[in-house]
Amino acid sequence: MKLYNTATRKLETFKPLGDEVKIYTCGPTVYNFPHIGNYAAYTYWDLLVRTLKANGYQVKRVLNLTDVGHLVSDADEGEDKLEKGAAREGKSPFEIADFYSKVYLDNYKKLELLPADIIAKATDYIKDDMEAVDLMTKNGFTYETEDGIYYDTSKFPGYADFAKLDLAGLQAGARVEFSVEKRNATDFAVWKFIKPGEKHAMRWDYLGRPGYPGWHLECATIIHKELGEPIDIHTGGVDHIPVHHTNEIAETYAAYGKNLARFWLHCDFIMIDGQKISKSLGNTYTLEDLEEKGFTPMDYKMWLLSGHYQGTRNFTFDSLAAAKQRRLNWRNRIALCYQQDVVNEDGVYDRILEVLNENLNSAEAFAIIDNSVISFEDWKKIDELFGLRLIEDTPNVDEGIYKLIHEREDARAEKDFASSDGIRDELLERGIALHDTPDGAVWEYKK
Ligand code: AMP
Ligand code: ZN
Repeated sequence: MKLYNTATRKLETFKPLGDEVKIYTCGPTVYNFPHIGNYAAYTYWDLLVRTLKANGYQVKRVLNLTDVGHLVSDADEGEDKLEKGAAREGKSPFEIADFYSKVYLDNYKKLELLPADIIAKATDYIKDDMEAVDLMTKNGFTYETEDGIYYDTSKFPGYADFAKLDLAGLQAGARVEFSVEKRNATDFAVWKFIKPGEKHAMRWDYLGRPGYPGWHLECATIIHKELGEPIDIHTGGVDHIPVHHTNEIAETYAAYGKNLARFWLHCDFIMIDGQKISKSLGNTYTLEDLEEKGFTPMDYKMWLLSGHYQGTRNFTFDSLAAAKQRRLNWRNRIALCYQQDVVNEDGVYDRILEVLNENLNSAEAFAIIDNSVISFEDWKKIDELFGLRLIEDTPNVDEGIYKLIHEREDARAEKDFASSDGIRDELLERGIALHDTPDGAVWEYKK
């Protein structure tokens, strides 16, 4: 299997180090309703896990839920997103985290995403965070300011490598008036102090003062505790490369002296009608918004997987309608398998897996599905490979329907067209359309 590794900027052959593939996925910050773009990464990484499993690998995947300490800016400034959610809704940040974690997890189910083996809440790893800061300090990587404990990025020689950062340019471009006394433009908080009088409901005592962990730290400590470095594959969005993932790598090096991950996969952003998704443009559609417009989460998943995870995708309602129709076509080909013996083209499933093994080329895999003759047995395998609920949503019709179809055939044979048309309409009302063929009537689903 080949995957594009962001760390080396190359398509590389992937093999796990041990018996199972250790995967970590940077999860959501649970402070607000997610828009459809927020599900892109999890859908693509679900395909990654399913493809690995189809290749016979055991997978152990950890997903974190950021329920603390993620500031609205990557630069250690601005409000904590959870505290912001709490202020917006007049609730505690813990209530906010519980509520939106559930929203995400419910929607993962709606999208038929395989549950991660471990779902790690950042707040369950605070002690581990403190131990990691202790280690980083012991190893000489941190300094203290009034604002918190900062990582001195000049101490990590490889800091710029992962994102190919231009450190001199960043330093020159940094505004003089940092809100904190940072030594280098790229330095970042591993632990933030809460000043006396400052409102911050989520707080833990460390070094004799109340505070909370910097955002990046949770991923480093969760990986250390639950998987052990180096993990095989670390996944995230392209926006994570220059700061979040760069800092996770730096922290892991400083605390544990280890390389964090062997392969890094990053997915690109979803645009809507050629524009970025943003509140000000009023296009922050949720899955529920799509449902109100008549599109199921499976239709959206079909749309996501009809393109590649790398490269910007442009979402339009027309293209979503096309994805919905494509799924209906596939379901009707499954329905045909109930009615006729469909014999497979040789090796069709293997060809599909082969293109997925080339850096998860689901677009090409879908084209193969469109253009091949596929048996029911292979549809089941395809359904498992993509998690599209094709079979579940395409039940064989009950005996009653078959009986009606036969009655209609008899009526037609007797040239009783009034009865035959009546039965056809009745079936249509039940979502079943009939097509007359030389071999008799064939039915298909209309929704
Ligand atoms: P946000 O809550 O907007 O910071 O988004 C959380 C994460 O969702 C980001 O770090 C991105 O990786 C991902 N994300 C946000 N917007 C999009 C988008 N339009 N397309 C794909 N992923 C997105
Ligand atoms: Zn992360």
